Amino acid sequence: MKEEKSIKSANEKLQEKLAFESKQAKLGKSELKAAFKFCEGYKTFLDNSKTEGLCVETVIKLAKERGYVSFKEGKKYAAGAKVYVRNRGAAIMLATIGKKPLDEGLRVIASHIDSPRLDLKPNPLFEDSEIAYFKTHYYGGVRKYQWPTIPLALHGVIYKADGEMVRINIGEDENDPIFYITDLLPHLGREQGQKKLSEAFHGESLNIIIGSIPEQDDKIENKTKFAVLKLLNEKYGITEADFHTADIKAVPAYKARDIGLDRGLIASYGHDDRICAYTSMMADFAVEKPEYTTVTILADKEEVGSLGNTGLDSYYFQYFVEELAEAAGVKPRRVFAASKALSADVNAAFDPNFPEAFEKRNAFRVNHGVGVAKYVGSGGKGGTIDTSAAYMSFIRTMLDKAKVAWQVGEMGKIDQGGGGTVASFLARYDIDTVDIGVPLLSMHAPLEIVSKIDVYMAFKAFEAFYKN
Ligand code: MN
Ligand code: MN
Repeated sequence: MKEEKSIKSANEKLQEKLAFESKQAKLGKSELKAAFKFCEGYKTFLDNSKTEGLCVETVIKLAKERGYVSFKEGKKYAAGAKVYVRNRGAAIMLATIGKKPLDEGLRVIASHIDSPRLDLKPNPLFEDSEIAYFKTHYYGGVRKYQWPTIPLALHGVIYKADGEMVRINIGEDENDPIFYITDLLPHLGREQGQKKLSEAFHGESLNIIIGSIPEQDDKIENKTKFAVLKLLNEKYGITEADFHTADIKAVPAYKARDIGLDRGLIASYGHDDRICAYTSMMADFAVEKPEYTTVTILADKEEVGSLGNTGLDSYYFQYFVEELAEAAGVKPRRVFAASKALSADVNAAFDPNFPEAFEKRNAFRVNHGVGVAKYVGSGGKGGTIDTSAAYMSFIRTMLDKAKVAWQVGEMGKIDQGGGGTVASFLARYDIDTVDIGVPLLSMHAPLEIVSKIDVYMAFKAFEAFYKN
């Protein structure tokens, strides 16, 4: 065989070896096909899981189909056993029991299943100029101007005075009505247009149209509001006071859709952070008898600081590990200290439309694979765990060995802003932890964008972590 003549100089070859440049993930035809197929499941998951409550229901259904059973305290589980722990209606943990003794540590992946949205206020219903509205209070970091003039769906639960729970789900079915927040027409928007972006749209103007036909009765005041109350009572048996005991959320009434002629990207509500929830759940499903026991945490309340008993600042993960440890006759402290964890959450992808917000050399890129962030936070690394080089090295070896396309980076320019994750709620247990996730375009927008290749690489990374 004739040796192919290299046209590269010695220095070119040396440069290739010595210098680093982030590159697009290169997938073969079959792997690209596998990535696209994987994302079909992901899109269905997104459409069925618009709130943390719906997400928990979807996860339980999928987990049960794969043999997961509700965890029983005190019971000893054999290697390969699959259990779940549901925390009320808003958070859930999956676990696959490993072969190694528990005090050799767990493999933990934590993500969150709450997403930015508009919650109804406790007294939401009012009428103004014959139109009935729901008042909202935004949840998480939203850019307020993005929420008017898009179709909204309502999800949630209402408890009646007698304690009976009623589920609300309106706006997802094509035959359902949708809900809507108005914006000013450009013709009359001159004054609004002069304002700063942060001042042109107010939280108090994010009022959702709920009805427009008044009750035909001149003896009644607030005729449209009354007509809406009548409709709600007929359909759900509720009264206005029942909104005091309700969790109702307005979310974009869009389905997940492919973007581009090549269908390489997905637009959807709630990628943050159902991407990491779905991919880590699928990784837990994929392991059979792992070396180390896996714990996949899908937490609530991350977007508002992880407080509350379903947020990861609560001790439910700790209690679960303590129960596992007690059943195995080992010290929980030893289990924690020997464990390894991934804080799985999305990060920002470099956006060529807004290059000024990013530092190009350290920005995550669409299609460059799953993103590992040594630190997140803001300012002088405020609020981050800043993972050690030693643990970064463990992650690097693991990802390279499993042939996962991955990249490193940070969110944006220093002092541009920033964000936090659940990482500190894992690291507090003396667990090696790192932030890892999928880079997004338009994060926290009603429709966020992700690359199918990056979603698949997140799955492969999590699978490798559970098999490592
Ligand atoms: Mn997130
Ligand atoms: Mn977020």
